[in-house]
Amino acid sequence: MNKRVNRLAFKAQVEQRHEANPLLKMPGDAALVHRGVLRSLVMACPDGCGELLTINLDARSGKAWRTYGSHEELSLFPSVWRQTGCKSHFILWRSKIYWCDWDDELDTPMADVVELVRGRLSNELVPYVEIADALQLVPWAVLSACYQLIRKGLAQEGKSDLRGHFRRAESLG
Ligand SMILES: [Zn+2]
Repeated sequence: MNKRVNRLAFKAQVEQRHEANPLLKMPGDAALVHRGVLRSLVMACPDGCGELLTINLDARSGKAWRTYGSHEELSLFPSVWRQTGCKSHFILWRSKIYWCDWDDELDTPMADVVELVRGRLSNELVPYVEIADALQLVPWAVLSACYQLIRKGLAQEGKSDLRGHFRRAESLG
Protein backbone atom coordinates (compact mmCIF):
# COMPACT_ATOMS: atom_id res chain seq x y z
CA MET A 1 0.00 0.00 0.00
CA ASN A 2 2.67 2.45 0.95
CA LYS A 3 4.79 3.75 -1.88
CA ARG A 4 6.46 6.58 -0.04
CA VAL A 5 9.82 7.60 -1.40
CA ASN A 6 12.66 9.32 0.40
CA ARG A 7 14.15 11.23 -2.47
CA LEU A 8 13.20 13.89 -4.94
CA ALA A 9 13.95 12.85 -8.53
CA PHE A 10 14.63 16.02 -10.46
CA LYS A 11 13.51 15.68 -14.08
CA ALA A 12 13.68 19.04 -15.78
CA GLN A 13 13.31 22.77 -15.66
CA VAL A 14 10.44 24.00 -17.81
CA GLU A 15 8.90 27.34 -18.64
CA GLN A 16 5.24 26.44 -18.41
CA ARG A 17 3.53 24.54 -15.64
CA HIS A 18 1.75 22.13 -18.04
CA GLU A 19 5.04 21.06 -19.61
CA ALA A 20 5.89 19.42 -16.31
CA ASN A 21 2.93 17.04 -16.26
CA PRO A 22 4.12 14.34 -18.70
CA LEU A 23 7.55 14.27 -17.05
CA LEU A 24 6.29 13.29 -13.62
CA LYS A 25 5.54 9.59 -13.53
CA MET A 26 6.89 8.17 -10.30
CA PRO A 27 6.36 9.39 -6.73
CA GLY A 28 8.95 12.10 -6.03
CA ASP A 29 9.50 13.04 -9.68
CA ALA A 30 9.79 16.81 -9.83
CA ALA A 31 10.25 19.72 -12.21
CA LEU A 32 10.98 23.38 -11.62
CA VAL A 33 8.96 25.99 -13.47
CA HIS A 34 11.25 28.91 -14.26
CA ARG A 35 10.05 31.84 -16.32
CA GLY A 36 12.24 34.85 -15.61
CA VAL A 37 12.23 33.78 -11.98
CA LEU A 38 11.46 30.52 -10.23
CA ARG A 39 7.68 30.10 -10.26
CA SER A 40 6.99 26.72 -8.75
CA LEU A 41 8.12 23.23 -8.01
CA VAL A 42 5.78 20.62 -9.41
CA MET A 43 6.12 17.15 -7.98
CA ALA A 44 4.35 13.83 -8.09
CA CYS A 45 3.32 13.47 -4.47
CA PRO A 46 6.12 11.48 -2.82
CA ASP A 47 3.67 9.31 -0.88
CA GLY A 48 2.49 7.69 -4.09
CA CYS A 49 -1.13 8.94 -3.96
CA GLY A 50 -0.81 9.94 -7.60
CA GLU A 51 -1.55 13.63 -7.22
CA LEU A 52 0.66 16.38 -8.57
CA LEU A 53 1.66 19.00 -6.04
CA THR A 54 2.37 22.55 -7.15
CA ILE A 55 4.54 24.34 -4.62
CA ASN A 56 4.63 28.08 -5.13
CA LEU A 57 8.10 29.63 -5.14
CA ASP A 58 7.15 33.11 -6.30
CA ALA A 59 6.35 35.47 -3.44
CA ARG A 60 4.49 37.77 -5.85
CA SER A 61 1.73 35.17 -6.14
CA GLY A 62 1.06 34.59 -2.47
CA LYS A 63 2.53 32.36 0.18
CA ALA A 64 5.78 31.03 -1.19
CA TRP A 65 8.34 28.48 -0.13
CA ARG A 66 12.00 29.31 -0.17
CA THR A 67 14.35 27.14 -2.17
CA TYR A 68 18.00 26.46 -1.56
CA GLY A 69 20.52 24.65 -3.70
CA SER A 70 20.34 23.40 -7.24
CA HIS A 71 18.36 20.87 -9.19
CA GLU A 72 20.05 17.79 -7.83
CA GLU A 73 20.28 19.08 -4.26
CA LEU A 74 17.17 21.06 -3.67
CA SER A 75 15.86 22.19 -0.31
CA LEU A 76 12.51 23.77 0.50
CA PHE A 77 11.52 25.79 3.52
CA PRO A 78 9.20 25.46 5.37
CA SER A 79 7.92 21.88 5.25
CA VAL A 80 5.19 20.87 2.81
CA TRP A 81 1.95 19.94 4.54
CA ARG A 82 -1.03 19.13 2.37
CA GLN A 83 -4.28 20.25 3.95
CA THR A 84 -6.35 18.11 1.57
CA GLY A 85 -6.12 14.70 -0.05
CA CYS A 86 -3.41 12.50 1.40
CA LYS A 87 -2.36 15.17 3.99
CA SER A 88 1.29 14.38 3.37
CA HIS A 89 3.70 16.30 5.56
CA PHE A 90 7.36 16.25 4.67
CA ILE A 91 10.60 18.18 4.72
CA LEU A 92 12.75 18.45 1.61
CA TRP A 93 16.41 18.95 2.39
CA ARG A 94 19.13 18.39 -0.21
CA SER A 95 16.64 16.46 -2.33
CA LYS A 96 16.00 14.03 0.50
CA ILE A 97 12.47 13.67 1.83
CA TYR A 98 11.92 13.38 5.57
CA TRP A 99 8.44 12.29 6.61
CA CYS A 100 7.22 14.32 9.54
CA ASP A 101 4.58 11.84 10.66
CA TRP A 102 7.15 9.04 10.69
CA ASP A 103 9.42 11.22 12.83
CA ASP A 104 12.22 10.81 10.33
CA GLU A 105 15.32 12.33 11.83
CA LEU A 106 17.16 14.96 9.87
CA ASP A 107 20.67 13.96 8.91
CA THR A 108 23.41 15.41 11.08
CA PRO A 109 25.11 18.31 9.34
CA MET A 110 28.87 18.57 8.98
CA ALA A 111 30.78 19.26 12.17
CA ASP A 112 31.77 22.73 11.00
CA VAL A 113 28.12 23.64 10.48
CA VAL A 114 27.33 22.50 14.02
CA GLU A 115 30.20 24.66 15.28
CA LEU A 116 28.95 27.69 13.32
CA VAL A 117 25.50 27.30 14.81
CA ARG A 118 26.92 26.80 18.26
CA GLY A 119 28.89 30.02 17.92
CA ARG A 120 25.74 31.87 16.97
CA LEU A 121 23.61 30.77 19.93
CA SER A 122 23.14 33.39 22.61
CA ASN A 123 21.36 33.56 25.94
CA GLU A 124 18.13 34.52 24.23
CA LEU A 125 15.80 32.11 22.49
CA VAL A 126 16.06 32.71 18.76
CA PRO A 127 14.11 30.99 15.95
CA TYR A 128 16.33 28.62 14.00
CA VAL A 129 15.35 30.25 10.73
CA GLU A 130 16.83 33.51 12.00
CA ILE A 131 20.09 31.78 12.79
CA ALA A 132 20.00 30.20 9.34
CA ASP A 133 19.52 33.56 7.66
CA ALA A 134 22.37 35.11 9.60
CA LEU A 135 24.69 32.26 8.65
CA GLN A 136 23.27 31.85 5.13
CA LEU A 137 22.52 28.21 5.78
CA VAL A 138 19.53 26.06 4.94
CA PRO A 139 17.18 26.22 7.96
CA TRP A 140 17.02 22.41 8.14
CA ALA A 141 20.79 22.27 8.63
CA VAL A 142 20.48 24.70 11.52
CA LEU A 143 17.55 22.85 13.07
CA SER A 144 19.44 19.60 12.89
CA ALA A 145 22.55 21.23 14.33
CA CYS A 146 20.48 22.61 17.21
CA TYR A 147 19.15 19.14 18.03
CA GLN A 148 22.67 17.82 17.90
CA LEU A 149 23.79 20.54 20.33
CA ILE A 150 20.88 19.72 22.66
CA ARG A 151 21.98 16.09 22.73
CA LYS A 152 25.44 17.28 23.74
CA GLY A 153 23.97 19.50 26.47
CA LEU A 154 25.12 22.66 24.67
CA ALA A 155 21.75 24.09 23.64
CA GLN A 156 18.19 24.36 24.88
CA GLU A 157 14.90 24.64 23.03
CA GLY A 158 12.03 26.85 24.13
CA LYS A 159 8.71 25.34 25.13
CA SER A 160 5.20 25.60 23.61
CA ASP A 161 5.11 28.87 21.63
CA LEU A 162 8.87 29.02 21.68
CA ARG A 163 9.46 25.61 20.17
CA GLY A 164 11.89 25.96 17.30
CA HIS A 165 13.65 28.71 19.27
CA PHE A 166 17.07 27.87 20.62
CA ARG A 167 19.64 29.30 22.99
CA ARG A 168 22.92 28.36 24.51
CA ALA A 169 22.55 25.95 27.41
CA GLU A 170 23.05 27.59 30.77
CA SER A 171 26.28 26.60 32.30
CA LEU A 172 25.82 24.77 35.56
CA GLY A 173 29.21 25.84 36.82
ZN1 LIG B 1 0.00 12.30 -1.62
